[in-house]
Amino acid sequence: MARKPIIAGNWKMNNNIAQTKALITDLIPLVADAKCDVVICTPYTSLATAVEMCKGTNIKVGAENVHWAEKGAFTGEISANMLVELGVEYAIVGHSERRTYFGETDKTVNQRVKAALAAGLKVILCVGETLEEREAGITAEVVRRQTKIAFTDVAKEDLENVVIAYEPVWAIGTGKTATAQDANDTIKIIRDLMAELYCPKCAENLVRIQYGGSMNAKNASELMAMPEIDGGLIGGASLKAEDFNKVVHF
Ligand code: PEP
Repeated sequence: MARKPIIAGNWKMNNNIAQTKALITDLIPLVADAKCDVVICTPYTSLATAVEMCKGTNIKVGAENVHWAEKGAFTGEISANMLVELGVEYAIVGHSERRTYFGETDKTVNQRVKAALAAGLKVILCVGETLEEREAGITAEVVRRQTKIAFTDVAKEDLENVVIAYEPVWAIGTGKTATAQDANDTIKIIRDLMAELYCPKCAENLVRIQYGGSMNAKNASELMAMPEIDGGLIGGASLKAEDFNKVVHF
């Protein structure tokens, strides 16, 4: 069974409501014939607008984070059910910016993954090594640890609902891309781990693994030609409809 490619935009802390409307208006006709799954992950403030505008189109809407508790004293956080109620379908979990700037740990990533799945959201789970870790030769160890802990107590039945995004931290927003071969090799390490944790067929057929890190209109086709790379998580290049569309049509 071939894995369907998935291209997701991560808008980060960009786009007010007017900009959200303009970008989605441009995007809808451009990506209407896409052969891959298309997702845009927007700031919380844009989600309702994005969901409304994308109804009846092939664009799915995601949040950039989700809390693990159902409700309670977690000022500033948003629960999975709140997102589901809005019509949101995806949530990014464990983005390196969350891990670096907001104290996200492998354990809290796992808690968020489980809560999102329990509420019926699909997850884009980010893993990836820092430059220091890469230079220390521990890339495989780091991505295996992050992935293993993120999937603790996640059932096989939920594998289709989790997309893994391999994002080398040194390549995010820097203009530096991992070579297609390097990205492919690390993604293979993650897929082999998923075969160990679940089963070889599950890893081969159900687990989609994206590359993320300065992926853009120019390098998307080379990356997407690699056998292990099932899609992309796109930051900067998702903020312009033309650029994102070129990645979608890799
Ligand atoms: C990201 O935000 O996940 C990302 C990969 O950003 P960029 O494409 O800008 O490197």
